[in-house]
Amino acid sequence: MLLSIENLSINFRTDEGLITPVQEVSLSLAEGRTLGLVGESGSGKSVTTKALMRVLPDSATLAPESRIRFRDKTGATINVEKLSPNSRALRALRGGEIGMIFQEPMASFSPVYTIGNQMIEAIRLHKGLRGRAARELAVEMLAKVGLSEPATRVDQYAFELSGGMRQRAVIAMALSASPRLLIADEPTTALDVTIQAQVLDLMRSLQSDLGMSMIFITHDLGVIAQIAQDVAVMYLGTIVERGPVRDVLKDPQHPYTRGLLQAIPSLDRLSRRLRPVPGDIPSPSARPRGCPFHTRCAEMKPGLCDVTAPRDTVFGKGRMVRCHLAEPAQAQSA
Ligand code: SF4
Repeated sequence: MLLSIENLSINFRTDEGLITPVQEVSLSLAEGRTLGLVGESGSGKSVTTKALMRVLPDSATLAPESRIRFRDKTGATINVEKLSPNSRALRALRGGEIGMIFQEPMASFSPVYTIGNQMIEAIRLHKGLRGRAARELAVEMLAKVGLSEPATRVDQYAFELSGGMRQRAVIAMALSASPRLLIADEPTTALDVTIQAQVLDLMRSLQSDLGMSMIFITHDLGVIAQIAQDVAVMYLGTIVERGPVRDVLKDPQHPYTRGLLQAIPSLDRLSRRLRPVPGDIPSPSARPRGCPFHTRCAEMKPGLCDVTAPRDTVFGKGRMVRCHLAEPAQAQSA
């Protein structure tokens, strides 16, 4: 495994006391695969992946039982949760072994440096190239992500590019250090629909050309179907369902996964109203007792779901669901 997360819980100190937006998350990712992390905003997806790069705010701490294991280029296992904040190993991990791209591309670029300056700095830090060699690699990466006139773009500022071009440039910057894992946090959400499709296509082909692994964060299961091989569905800081994308989409076991699927528009359902999951996700500071989803679940069993938290049921090839009603064939409770 390239990445293995076990029992990750993240606490935040707030004015209202300690809150736990991520609770006992376990995930793994094999080399060359894409994991889709899906859920509404507030489900803990971004916080989970920020913990992998240790870029959480100072008010956050990992619970002592949290384990994050990452296999680096040399094959050595890094205990990410143990790295000290200013260590060389952590700097090598961030932007080197693990690249990250965000929803809003402007946030990734400084307005006072050209795109090339920033790419060359990342290349110098993580690949040890300088001068002309670093610049040539920056231009090559801009060409690889399909930017026209890359030798001109490299000397431009982010604000001179359109939204779609900027997101391509962000991808080029993240990839210029040849990361083994790319974390993409809603990278297409801020883009027009046609540009979204182009960027998704680009990411899919780059991922398979470069053989890297990817964690793709989104609120949209439709996007996951296009880009990922495995999916983990998050709700209120926990994984409620996990498995190969095809199996989960064909036969969703958790009521929340089914709700997310019903919220996807499709051509053969144009005449039917979309049925998004009713209500809002609760705050982690007011986590419901029992199953965290029971306040919104149409299948909730009073006296059970609102009292007792469900356990993980493991079944099939790598599938897991956390729901009292899950009774797939050959299931085992974890
Ligand atoms: Fe719904 Fe109960 Fe399953 Fe939770 S455990 S998802 S409330 S049926």
